[in-house]
Amino acid sequence: MKRFALPCAVLAICLCGVATRAQQQDFSKVEIKVTKVAGSVYMLEGAGGNIGVSVGADGILIVDDQFAPLAEKIRAALKTLGEGKLKFVLNTHWHGDHTGGNAQFSQEASIIAHDNVRKRLATEQKIFNEKVPASPKEALPVITFDNTLTVHFNSEEIRAIHFPHGHTDGDSVIFFTGSNVVHMGDDFFAGRFPFVDLENGGNVVNLAKNIGEIIGRLPAGVKIIPGHGPLSTIDDLKLYHRMLLETIDVVRKQAAAGKTLEQIKAGGLPEAWKSWGTGFIKTDQWIELIYKSLKQ
Ligand SMILES: [Zn+2]
Repeated sequence: MKRFALPCAVLAICLCGVATRAQQQDFSKVEIKVTKVAGSVYMLEGAGGNIGVSVGADGILIVDDQFAPLAEKIRAALKTLGEGKLKFVLNTHWHGDHTGGNAQFSQEASIIAHDNVRKRLATEQKIFNEKVPASPKEALPVITFDNTLTVHFNSEEIRAIHFPHGHTDGDSVIFFTGSNVVHMGDDFFAGRFPFVDLENGGNVVNLAKNIGEIIGRLPAGVKIIPGHGPLSTIDDLKLYHRMLLETIDVVRKQAAAGKTLEQIKAGGLPEAWKSWGTGFIKTDQWIELIYKSLKQ
């Protein structure tokens, strides 16, 4: 199935967001795939988080920028969409597979993100018990916001809305209001269990709440770019939401009945969600992320 096509090794690098590992990774074989989404919006897939692109008379705006070694390939892909200059980069959150190209692209564009993205990039972080060094000044967002921000660009309002404590503590969902496209960042992993960064302000239970709220705001027929996975629809996002609610419920009930994490892992999750554990986050890890989120 297409949605599981990304090799695990690549995913492991992408999702951990550890810059040092990314530098050791061979990106020479990565190709950037360009897909027209709707209106002025395109999606780029390479290695790391999906990139959203607005192209038009005002130039180019991108949402997330994958890894630094891919910057030239991303520039070449953007060139195929028009001669307009790159003006803005929006970061959906701080992880290295979404912000790795910042230092490169800040040469020509202004980087925009939630306040907590800048805070985390500016200082040393820890993820999977590994240290992520602070990013250089050139990689930091120069425009930050605490709740919402709108870029008036290519004849539409491109609106970034912060949803607290989902995948991290700095996630924004980007609404291309005229093109009817939404970039969800890593609040949405299409068809697989998501990584939720509990060490950096993420929480599974709150993520489920945020997704419910986002679904309520989505216009009919909207096209959805997930942080990871293929281009999606509202139905795909609703299924993801149902997965979140049902798997949380399974773990919550057992924890309330006094079962240990190991006992809950041994029992597993309903068959319906089995294929969701074939990505980067396996079923055992997903149960643990839920269990720890409930204890927070
Ligand atoms: Zn992420």
